[in-house]
Amino acid sequence: MAYLDNAASSQKPKCVIDALSKYYKKQNSNVHRGVYALAEEAENEYRMARQTIANWLNVESEEIIFVRGATEALNLVAQSFSKKYLIKGDSVILSQMEHHANIVPWQMIAEEKGLRVKVAPINHDGSLNRKELSNLLSDETSKVLSLCHISNSLGTINPIEEIISEAHEHGVHVVVDGAQSVPHTILDLKKMDCDFFAFSGHKVFGPMGIGVLYGKKELLAEMPPYQGGGDMIDQVSFNGTTFAPHPQRFEAGTPNVAGAIGLATALRYLKGHDLSALAEYESTLLHYAQSGLKEIPGLTIHGTTKDKAAVISFSIEEVHPYDLSTLLDSEGIAIRTGHHCCQPLMEVLGVQSTARASFAFYNTLEEAERFVTAVKKSVEILK
Ligand code: PMP
Repeated sequence: MAYLDNAASSQKPKCVIDALSKYYKKQNSNVHRGVYALAEEAENEYRMARQTIANWLNVESEEIIFVRGATEALNLVAQSFSKKYLIKGDSVILSQMEHHANIVPWQMIAEEKGLRVKVAPINHDGSLNRKELSNLLSDETSKVLSLCHISNSLGTINPIEEIISEAHEHGVHVVVDGAQSVPHTILDLKKMDCDFFAFSGHKVFGPMGIGVLYGKKELLAEMPPYQGGGDMIDQVSFNGTTFAPHPQRFEAGTPNVAGAIGLATALRYLKGHDLSALAEYESTLLHYAQSGLKEIPGLTIHGTTKDKAAVISFSIEEVHPYDLSTLLDSEGIAIRTGHHCCQPLMEVLGVQSTARASFAFYNTLEEAERFVTAVKKSVEILK
């Protein structure tokens, strides 16, 4: 099978599967509470996983909060940051290319607190309209910009450092949805200077059910808890409760210890590779597949910026994406169809859904070739 749905979730290297298996076979115990050797080992592994992730992102381990995934990370920051730092009438800026995970949490808190949500438009090629974004950033009600680093539908890579520095000039805090960039980019969050950064383990060759929210420690220190429960408290009484410092304050309940270890293992695995060479290789696959698809009459590729990740969203006149993907599946090729959790973007593109192929470093040129040939063959059948 040619697995071309890597933007949805990646396959896992053996070392990640082995790390999960080893944890449950030999190290399984709850963290934070035990004084026996097994509990200490689990605690140690969990602590080291946090450190590995912090090192990978070039930040401090106390700035790493384990969550279920990018969705939970974005909900956490929308809720907790807004409660502390935003007041009625303040604005949150999003863009037209955002995933629902970076839209709905902001709409929910906006409703609750009387905030406004403003949307930066995109250009025809799928790039962000910087002029319109600048206008929004300079509006004095603007307090937060929450933006994807790489669009899961268009593949657009936003010039995130430039945008962050412009936002900061206006005193606007920046939340980066890094769900699509962590698997394909070398990241230095200190250099990037984002205020928050969210991603999921399962897209970066790690397990499902684990993800990370990075936050600058001076912001996290002032933010209220997101959920209440065990492990996030200092003292509890019926007269009132005090909370643990971050990151524990944001990690209520038993954490996904195996997931954290699996994610750290995935990042160590990636560290053993030349990431820029992998990105270059993925770009070769992208360009090969794109130029093959362009030969098909009536085919439109959505997202044509020069700086683009290995994601191809496309529509073909008179061909329904679901029919196309069903035929591709019968040839052993897995692509995704639908709105990709980007319904507002689909509206901008004027389509209900698109077909999307997305590549990872383990895909081959032969798979890209098979994909293009199968699309051509399917179009002949369906038209
Ligand atoms: N943001 C982007 C850009 C994504 O691609 C995704 C996953 N498709 C998410 C957020 C949400 O990730 P998860 O479902 O793993 O929480």
